[in-house]
Order: sequence, then structure tokens, then C-alpha cells
Amino acid sequence: MTETPKTALTIAGSDSGGGAGIQADLRTFFACGVHGLTALTAVTVQNSVGVHGFTEIPADVVAAQIETVAGDMGVNAAKTGMLATAEIIATVAATVDAVGIGRGRRVPFVVDPVAASMHGDPLLREEALEAIRTELLPRATVVTPNLDEVRLLTGISVTEETVQREAAEALLAFGPQWVLVKGGHLAGSTRCVDLLSDGTHVVELEGRRYDTPHTHGGGDTLASAVTAHLAKGLGVPDAVSVGKRFIERCVAESYPLGQGVGPVSPFW
Ligand code: PLP
Repeated sequence: MTETPKTALTIAGSDSGGGAGIQADLRTFFACGVHGLTALTAVTVQNSVGVHGFTEIPADVVAAQIETVAGDMGVNAAKTGMLATAEIIATVAATVDAVGIGRGRRVPFVVDPVAASMHGDPLLREEALEAIRTELLPRATVVTPNLDEVRLLTGISVTEETVQREAAEALLAFGPQWVLVKGGHLAGSTRCVDLLSDGTHVVELEGRRYDTPHTHGGGDTLASAVTAHLAKGLGVPDAVSVGKRFIERCVAESYPLGQGVGPVSPFW
């Protein structure tokens, strides 16, 4: 028998292609040395070419999964991915409050505001965006939007690095403790700069840009790596910095699979 590892909870959807969603989260937790717990929110039907549809899990079942694992095993950090509907978002907000997860509470809470796949297929019902702003962002220890999600949440189109700070300020106004504005999708840039800010401390995290089309699951993998390191007790800037190095390796080793976009790789 060995010591009990730290636990990380993902509240997210399933990707039948195994590249993103709860599948990416679990293997990232494993790779980062924490025990993964799951609260499934939706089942997507997807492959490397796209998301063909999804069915959401009833909100009370999402809540019950969170309560059941939190009450028995304990949660050291949690994250959200695909939440699908406003009803699930409101339920997750109430449930994390009840079990002590979120900003200002014992357990750090990473909110990855997943709205669509990289192919543009929706993963969130349209009316649910406002619920992300009002129910989730104020509860987040750190929120990790990509540039598409920044535009949907704030209306700001980040076309150059200088606008990233403005976007971070606009997101902080919704109430998260920290915001990580990921610059990976910034067209034409040879760098890959992510901006981390809590309004007082602003950190630019520069990374290498890899020339690969195979980046499916990259956002989920980064958010999970950050969550795993928060579970292990790191503060937000350190967890983000370690998480960024982790995702860089995964992108560097990404592989083709199927006819479309292959996944970032856990094999290294
Ligand atoms: N499917 C699920 C269940 C997801 O959670 C996500 C992203 O969070 C995706 C698909 C899309 O991943 P990507 O945009 O990396 O293709």
C-alpha cells in the first residue's frame, strides 16, 4: 500500500474520439500524478472530423456525482470543461458552493469556458453563455479562455498581444481571482504568449509555437494540468507555469489520427 494521492475532479463532457473532454482530463491527471475524479455532464458523438451531436446528463445527476465523490474521497482541486446548458451551469455553481469548491473557499476551481470545438461545432447551448459569466466566473480561482471564448464572453477581439491585457481586465470584472488569456490561436504570431493576471500581478508566459494541425484537446489538457498542480498545492502562477510546459510537450508530440485533427499527445 502506498500513500493516498491528491485528487482532482473534472466536471466535463465525454469525447468519443478520446482526444478531448473527460478522456483528456483523466490522462492528464494520471500523467501529473493525481487521482482523477469525474462528474460527466454530456456525451458527445465525435471523431477527428467533428462533433456530430451531444446529449446532456440530467443536472441532478451531475450534482450527485460531485457530491458523492467530494463527500467520500475529498477533492483537492476541480475544473470544468464542457457544461452544455445553463441548467447544468447553475447546478454546478450551487453544488461547488455546497461542497467548498471555488474562489475564496478551500478547494481551487479552474473554469475552462468551453463553448465550441476547434471545428466550430457548438458544445454549449447559446443561452448558456450568460450563465458562464454570472454563475461560473465569480466562483473561479482561475479562468482559462482561448481567444474565441474571450470574444464570446467579453466582445473583445484580440488581434494583437497588446489587446490581451484589455481582455484580461474585462474578464476580471466578472469576478474570477485570476485569468489566463491564452494566445495560442493568435494568427500570424511566431510566439505563443499567454497572459496571466489577477489585476495586480501580470505575468506573460511565452512559449514555442509548434507547426502542427493536431491540437485537439489542447485546451482541456492545459486546464487539467493546471488543476492537477493546484491539487498538489502549488499557487496559481506556479501551477500555470508548470501546466504550460506540460502542454507544450503534448503539442510537440501530437499525432495524426483519423481523417481530421489528431490529439495532443500524452506519450512522452
Ligand atoms: N469535446 C469535448 C467533450 C470537449 O470538452 C472539448 C473541449 O473542451 C472538445 C470536444 C473540443 O476540443 P478541441 O477544441 O480541442 O477540438
